Amino acid sequence: MSYEIIKEGQIERKNGNIQYASSSVVLTDYDSICIIDTAAPQNEKEIKQNLKKLDYSPNDIDFVINTHLHFDHKGCNHIFKEAEKTTDQPKDRSKFHKRINKDLNQLKIINTPGHTKNHVSVLIKDKETNKNIVVAGDALPEKTNYLKEKPPGINIDKEKSMESIQKIIKIADLVIPGHDSPFKV
Ligand SMILES: [Zn+2]
Repeated sequence: MSYEIIKEGQIERKNGNIQYASSSVVLTDYDSICIIDTAAPQNEKEIKQNLKKLDYSPNDIDFVINTHLHFDHKGCNHIFKEAEKTTDQPKDRSKFHKRINKDLNQLKIINTPGHTKNHVSVLIKDKETNKNIVVAGDALPEKTNYLKEKPPGINIDKEKSMESIQKIIKIADLVIPGHDSPFKV
């Protein structure tokens, strides 16, 4: 499995406004191409351009996996018309995750609740380095959550949030956070 970060997550603070955009990561596994999180609606142009640099068009994407369904993580889901996507129905969602876990090599969707109830992160085995990469989403939005051991500012359960951070740190060699640059553990 190989991965490309087509957008780094951001929290941009300017003129008293905050603009959130998630990381967006493309995974290639033999014939299947996945994208994990699709950033915010204002990132559409950038997402399309960066896909093009990889020689992909949006219709080449087979699966859109969202860590959760906040607007700044699913903002460009609509451009992937041919892809199967995360739904907001818990039953369908868990079926979808099971299928992905079964069909795609070296990729595992793991439950990381706390920021939201059904939040997931994605563990990837990088084929070249044999390292564990975790696309964390907002289970670990910024590096500072790891360094200062603090839960995401927005959370429904502080204790579960901290458990999810620990879980990610334990397995990851590299973390791709929801709203920050990748960092090594
Ligand atoms: Zn969120």
